[in-house]
Amino acid sequence: MDSFPDNLSPLSNPSSITGENANIILGGGLAGLSAGYVLTKAGLNVKVFESDAAVGGLSKTILKGGFRFDLGGHRFFTQNEKINKFVIDLMNGELLSVNRTSKIFMRNKFFDYPLKPFNAMFGLGVATTLKIVTDYGAEKIKRFTKEDDDISLEDWVVSNFGRTMFNLYFKEYSEKVWGVECNKISKEWVAQRIKGLSLWVAIKNAFFKFSGQKVDTLVDKFLYPPMGIGQISDKLKEGIEKGNSVFTNTRVAQVRHEGFVVKSLNAKNCDQIYDVEGSEFISSIPLTNLIRMLTPLPPQDILKAASQLKYRDFVVVTVMLNRERVTDLTWLYLPEQDILLGRIHEPKNWSPHMAPEGKTHIVSEYFCSEGDKLWNLSDEELTSITVEHLGRLGFTKKDEVIDSCIVRVPNAYPIFEVGYEGHYNKILNYLQNFKNLHIIGRSGMFRYYNMDHTIECGIEMAEKIIKNSK
Ligand SMILES: Cc1cc2nc3c(=O)[nH]c(=O)nc-3n(C[C@H](O)[C@H](O)[C@H](O)COP(=O)(O)OP(=O)(O)OC[C@H]3O[C@@H](n4cnc5c(N)ncnc54)[C@H](O)[C@@H]3O)c2cc1C
Repeated sequence: MDSFPDNLSPLSNPSSITGENANIILGGGLAGLSAGYVLTKAGLNVKVFESDAAVGGLSKTILKGGFRFDLGGHRFFTQNEKINKFVIDLMNGELLSVNRTSKIFMRNKFFDYPLKPFNAMFGLGVATTLKIVTDYGAEKIKRFTKEDDDISLEDWVVSNFGRTMFNLYFKEYSEKVWGVECNKISKEWVAQRIKGLSLWVAIKNAFFKFSGQKVDTLVDKFLYPPMGIGQISDKLKEGIEKGNSVFTNTRVAQVRHEGFVVKSLNAKNCDQIYDVEGSEFISSIPLTNLIRMLTPLPPQDILKAASQLKYRDFVVVTVMLNRERVTDLTWLYLPEQDILLGRIHEPKNWSPHMAPEGKTHIVSEYFCSEGDKLWNLSDEELTSITVEHLGRLGFTKKDEVIDSCIVRVPNAYPIFEVGYEGHYNKILNYLQNFKNLHIIGRSGMFRYYNMDHTIECGIEMAEKIIKNSK
C-alpha cells in the first residue's frame, strides 16, 4: 500500500482514545515511539498521538508507486552499545551493513567526502593544498597563545581547520543548511556535530582507517533496514500495539494544566475533538509548539523566549527514473550557492529493495524555511528545477523521468543561533515546574540529535517513569 499522499482517516475505535489514565505520548517519531515501546514492554498503559498519517516523523520512509525513500537518507550508526543492541534486537537482526561512499561537488569537480588528502590535492591543486596546511598550522600555533574565545560556527571551524578550509569546505554548505551566515550560528552546533574531528584526525583517518571510527562524521559503514529507515518506527509501533494504542492522523491542539500538573490534552482527528486524560505526559513535538499549546498559556516572557527559537525546514524532491542506476554514492553534498540543491542520494545504493526492478530514483534535499520562496514553489516547479539541476550534474535526462514526489518537512533542524541559550534555558526552567510533563527527542528538546540519541532519550524517559511507578 502506498503511504503517499497521506489522507486523513477517522479513528477505527474512537472510544479507545479516552478512558482510563495512561502515559500519554505526544508525537510518534522515534523518540515518542521508543518511549512508548519500553513502557508497553513493562506492562504500562500507553497512548501515542501522531498528527501525521504514518509514524516515524523525520525518520519515516515514504512509499510511492513501488519506490521507497527516506526524508533525506538516514544511516543508523551509534557508539552506544545499549542502543545498538536495542535496534538490532528490535529488527531481529534484519539490517544491511552499507558502505558509505560519499562525494562533495565543488569547483565543478567531485571530491571524496570526507576529503582524502591525495584526492583533495589533485582536485584543488598544490597551491591551495599548501595554503590549507599552512593556515591550519598557523591556527594551531595561535591556540597556544590565545584563550578559546570561539563563539560562532565560523570561529570554531577556523580555529580547528584553518581559514582556507573554512571558506572552501564548510562556509557555503553550512550557510545553505542554516539560511544565515556562519558567524550567526553558535559553535555549539558544529562542536556537537563533528566532535573530535580536526584536520589532523581527518588526514590520519584517510591513511589509517581505524582512527576515524571514533568520530561519527568519519564512519564509513552503517546499518540500514532493507525497506528503508521507517521500518524501525514501524517495528516500534507494532510493539506498542501489542496491548496499547498509537493514534495517527490525530493532532494534539491543547495541553491543559492546573497548578503545574497536566490534567488532559485536547486532540483532533478529522472533525472530532477528544479530551484525553492521563497520568504522565511525554512530549516529542517541537518545543516551541508545546509552549504555545499549554492552556492556560505560560507567562509572556516564556512565550517571547519560545518565539526566539527557530527551526530550519526542508523540501524533499524525489525524481523516479526509468533507468537501472545513476550513481554508486551514498550521499552527494552540493555546497555551491548557484546549485539550489543541498544534498542528494540514490536509495538503491542503500538497499536494493528501495526501487522496482530496472528503475531507480534520486532524492534531493532543499534547505529552506516554511513559507519562503523555495517552500512555496509548486510541485511542478520543484520537479522541473530538480530535473534541470540533475541534468547539469550529468545524472539524468528529461526523458528518463517517470514520476516525482514532493514532501515539505517542517521543523527539521533546531537552529542554534548565537545567544539562543538564554531563551532555551528560560523555557527549560519554566517546564521544570511541571510535575508530570516531560520533553524528549530532537524537536521536543531542541537538540541536534541523531537517531541513536533520540532513541536513547525516549528509552531513558520510559525507564524513569517505570521506576517511579513501582
Ligand atoms: C535531513 C535529515 C537527515 C537525517 N539523517 C540522519 C542520519 O543519517 N542518521 C541519524 O542517526 N539521524 C539522522 N537525522 C536525525 C533523525 O531524523 C532524528 O534524530 C529523529 O528522526 C528525531 O526523532 P524525534 O522523534 O525526536 O522527532 P520527530 O521525528 O520530529 O518526531 C516528532 C513527531 O511529532 C509529530 N507531531 C508534531 N506536532 C504534533 C502534534 N501537535 N500532535 C501530534 N503529533 C505531532 C510529528 O509529526 C512527528 O512525527 C536526520 C535528520 C534530518 C532532518
